[in-house]
Amino acid sequence: MHLLERIVFPLALSRREYYKNIMLDKASDLRHAPLVDPFQRAISYLRLSVTDRCDFRCVYCMSEDMTFLPKKEVLSLEELDRLCTSFVGMGVKKIRLSGGEPLVRRDIMSLIENLSRHLRSGDLEELTLTTNGSQLGRFAQQLFDAGVRRVNVSLDTMDAEKFKSITRRGDLAKVLASIETALSVGLKIKLNAVALKGVNDTEIDEMLKWCGDNGVDLTLIETMPLGEISQDRNEQYIPLAEIKTQLDKNWTLTPSKHRTGGPARYFDIGETGQKLGLITPLSHNFCESCNRVRVTCTGQMYMCLGQDDMADLRTPLRENDDDMSLIYAIREAITRKPEGHDFVIDRNSNTPSTPAVKRHMSVTGG
Ligand code: SAM
Ligand code: SF4
Repeated sequence: MHLLERIVFPLALSRREYYKNIMLDKASDLRHAPLVDPFQRAISYLRLSVTDRCDFRCVYCMSEDMTFLPKKEVLSLEELDRLCTSFVGMGVKKIRLSGGEPLVRRDIMSLIENLSRHLRSGDLEELTLTTNGSQLGRFAQQLFDAGVRRVNVSLDTMDAEKFKSITRRGDLAKVLASIETALSVGLKIKLNAVALKGVNDTEIDEMLKWCGDNGVDLTLIETMPLGEISQDRNEQYIPLAEIKTQLDKNWTLTPSKHRTGGPARYFDIGETGQKLGLITPLSHNFCESCNRVRVTCTGQMYMCLGQDDMADLRTPLRENDDDMSLIYAIREAITRKPEGHDFVIDRNSNTPSTPAVKRHMSVTGG
């Protein structure tokens, strides 16, 4: 029996289903056949955390005293490149680098510049990143030159004091200046804001106006129960439906046809021409169109943000140089991609900040 068959068939897929999707004859097929999960979803989107470190400590993401990973556990830039290249070979069209803060990883531009060869060849359609914006100004031109066209910046408030208290150390003026530089070099920016009860929920009108004035889209995210933090998540959580009801009073929000295969629903904003995205993982199931997997900076591949099941890709990456073990490991893991997540914020729990999923968002990169 073929090695891959030994791995795959005891698991979720039947032999017939598996052969329907890919051919197993030759190693080159394994390198290039598309990744399709047991629910017939093609995997075309990789989110890769390039570091667990960050220069901020956002209250919903990290605790004040985080212990970061020893360097040897983190994939080298060369290993990250091999990993991305294997995914691109198997049909991944979009890579989003995240973290921790991707732009605090030393020499991150060399990874991005190397990966841009896949953009030039046309194998990859988009290389992008999610950043807190603190370092974006100094990298903006290089990012654009490497073929990056859109960047998501996480920004929860336009109030400098609130910004400092949410991030525990960030400087709003620096982030806004970075955004200005990024826009001036031609990068398209989308803001991501986590909706926080009593913190920024009354500010969204103002943020939409700022976004309209600056040609920027805004996506609001509900807090997700990921990782131990020092605060009570019930205190932070506000359903986006509540915010949407408020926004409907002041803005003409028309459901948009725009889709990314991800959890966001989009609305066209009549008054500004920009888009508003709502990510509501706790109140809606967005899983049926899920086209993505996440890999941490230590090479753990999570098939679902809301589940603990994962596959170790670092061992096969470090085991040999020809990437076949890595490709087997990725294909095996895809057979375990679950149909959906099931996390909830339990309002009756005695330990309200106990997370549904133990790892922090900074591990899987959002
Ligand atoms: N440091 C970068 C940044 O902040 O954009 C990239 C990593 S950060 C983990 C990615 C995204 O996850 C950010 O938009 C952040 O707001 C979001 N995030 C972090 N923890 C979250 C949580 N518990 N619930 C919802 N979103 C969260
Ligand atoms: Fe850092 Fe981003 Fe997490 Fe904030 S959300 S602590 S910026 S990784």
